[in-house]
Amino acid sequence: MRIDVFTLFPELFAGPLRTSIIGRAAEAGLVEFGVHDLREHGLGRHRSVDDYPYGGGAGMVMRPEPLFAAVEPLRAAGAQVILMDPAGERLIDALARELAAAPHLALVCGRYEGVDERVRTIVDREVSIGDYVLTGGELPALVVIDAVVRLVPDVIQAASHEGDSFASGLLEYPQYTRPESFRDLPVPPVLLSGHHGEVDRWRRREALRRTLERRPDLLESAELGDDDRRVIDELANAGD
Ligand code: SAH
Repeated sequence: MRIDVFTLFPELFAGPLRTSIIGRAAEAGLVEFGVHDLREHGLGRHRSVDDYPYGGGAGMVMRPEPLFAAVEPLRAAGAQVILMDPAGERLIDALARELAAAPHLALVCGRYEGVDERVRTIVDREVSIGDYVLTGGELPALVVIDAVVRLVPDVIQAASHEGDSFASGLLEYPQYTRPESFRDLPVPPVLLSGHHGEVDRWRRREALRRTLERRPDLLESAELGDDDRRVIDELANAGD
């Protein structure tokens, strides 16, 4: 897969795209990144990329010309162009999985008060990472990249992300590692039992418990079996 990014601050991407799992995925050729400075398409001697908003008001707005010049060739080459924007569809696990299946993404990062409205005509979709406003689209783009690249085949083991929170519709069960007892906090004995069936049952039950306690809204769309429903009833009644 290839991911291109359009930004006024390319330096923000250097560390994250080189580090840990994402960096290794790039090194292994599983994903290819291109980070492009929008200033290269800036206007005039000062390479201007923003201007005052028509109608007045605070802040600056990114002009359309540099964004069109940068993005149109990629779009013509088949990239799916995504504008990072608080008004976009919310990034959730299902969207990350959908984007991970695309061969080529181009992420557009706004700054200041955002982009001229006409830029929306050359993007395929708009994505928000949550209901708050950041100073620029670079961190949102990195969030999208991180969420998407880890789902690209062979970046991490499928078994690892398939069990993660949200993938199954539930929050993940509690995880433990050594030592067996720490500050009088023991590891649940079933995890030391070596009995895989019981470990699986315990994990499913704890995932259901955690989801019921913290995110009951997720249970409405989770795929649940009869056993799961029995466990949920039991847990709900025990809490009475
Ligand atoms: N005036 C705009 C916010 C501009 S913030 C508004 O009220 O909607 C500047 C840029 O940061 C945006 O163009 C966008 O690219 C990025 N940004 C800020 N918050 C974001 C969020 N929650 N999700 C995705 N991108 C965001």
